[in-house]
Amino acid sequence: MKLRVGILGGTFCPIHFGHLRMGIEVAEQTGLNRIMLMPNNVPPHKEAPSVSAQDRLMMCRLAAQTCPLFTVSDLEISRGKLSYTINTVMELTQQNPHCDFSFITGADSLINSVWYKFDEILARLEYFYVLNRPGVTFDELRYKLEQMNLQNAEKIIWVDAPGLEISSTQIRELLASGRSAQYLVPECVLEYIKVRRLFRQQ
Ligand code: ATP
Ligand code: MG
Repeated sequence: MKLRVGILGGTFCPIHFGHLRMGIEVAEQTGLNRIMLMPNNVPPHKEAPSVSAQDRLMMCRLAAQTCPLFTVSDLEISRGKLSYTINTVMELTQQNPHCDFSFITGADSLINSVWYKFDEILARLEYFYVLNRPGVTFDELRYKLEQMNLQNAEKIIWVDAPGLEISSTQIRELLASGRSAQYLVPECVLEYIKVRRLFRQQ
């Protein structure tokens, strides 16, 4: 039987317990064997001050070490330019014929992002899991999907999970104003942030 891998893409600036819970919820509800964190490459002018792609990748690696379900891929970051999901999915499926890949996003990402060749992405995936996120309703998602008029829409699966109301934006704001992010990110990530002096007001 093939290994069922869920690709969880994001900026992870920084990774937090909302992301990790999301991975566990999807895996438990759908039977995925692994969750592969895929930090994306961000154009330099859009990066948070003082935080590099290597730092975001390192924080993902540290977080992944806290639970055997998670792995980390540097595929998009090592490309060093903007990656389209279709290219990532094509490369992963070609290089790992023993795996079935699915994709995982929060409902906000599905609605707010532009998905280049979305039908082709769906064709290559086993499933595309969409998690509820506070602020986005199932109706909004359904409306967006209807507008996309997809051939492979049956591969999109809505996963209802009790998400944590945590965002990287909230953590960046806390840290920039000298406040604590304890209990929002794993301790090992907090330690890395402290040592590397990340997310401080410049
Ligand atoms: P930012 O505030 O910078 O946008 P974020 O917390 O949304 O950061 P991302 O790296 O943008 O984190 O998110 C990666 C993926 O994880 C996206 O698909 C997003 O929808 C999802 N996600 C992030 N936080 C949560 C959460 N608390 N619950 C459910 N899904 C989440
Ligand atoms: Mg986001």
